[in-house]
Order: sequence, then structure tokens, then C-alpha cells
Amino acid sequence: MTGEDKRINEEALKRRKKPSKISHRVHVYENLCKGCGICVAVCPTGTLQLENNKFSIYGVVAKVDAEDYCIGCRTCEMRCPDFAIRIDEEDTND
Ligand code: SF4
Ligand code: SF4
Repeated sequence: MTGEDKRINEEALKRRKKPSKISHRVHVYENLCKGCGICVAVCPTGTLQLENNKFSIYGVVAKVDAEDYCIGCRTCEMRCPDFAIRIDEEDTND
């Protein structure tokens, strides 16, 4: 990962406050992900992180690091330029 990738990860972690009351499944399609970091940078809850991935031609992909923090806003889904991330609402916990 580059220094910019690490900075994006650190900023995302600062936005991680508390788990969501509604469960969502976050899917990253690693074969489509180019590790641009947009989803990590725009996620309001710090759910996502970038990580090194030796199987990716880009070397870095997004990963779901704390799925229980996802609020299902779909910002990542809408902003990903490669349709590499998808959100499914699963069930409610309350
Ligand atoms: S925005 Fe899309 S392509 Fe970029 S890191 Fe996230 S999932 Fe991967
Ligand atoms: S749906 Fe919203 S909260 Fe969940 S991972 Fe995507 S941007 Fe983050």
C-alpha cells in the first residue's frame, strides 16, 4: 500500500463510532476492485479498509473490515467506479 492508502485507512478508522442497529452484508468483488480507495474514503462509518492483496493485479483491494458498523447507506456502492461493491440488507437486530 502507498502512504496515501494508509492515510485513507487511518481517516476511515476515525469515523468508526459504534456498530449499526441494522445488519447489512457488504460484498467486495475482489476481481473487479482496483483498490482506488474511493469507497473507503466516502464510507461514513469506517466499515471499509484497503489491504494488500497479492492476487490482485493492482496489489491493493478494499476489504470489509468491520461489517457491523455498516449503516447501509450505499454510498460506497454508488461511488465505486467499477461496480465492485454491493450492499444487502440482512435483518434487524432490534
Ligand atoms: S471504490 Fe470500488 S474499485 Fe475502488 S477500492 Fe472501493 S470497491 Fe475497489
Ligand atoms: S453502505 Fe455506507 S456504511 Fe456501509 S460500507 Fe458502504 S458507505 Fe459504508
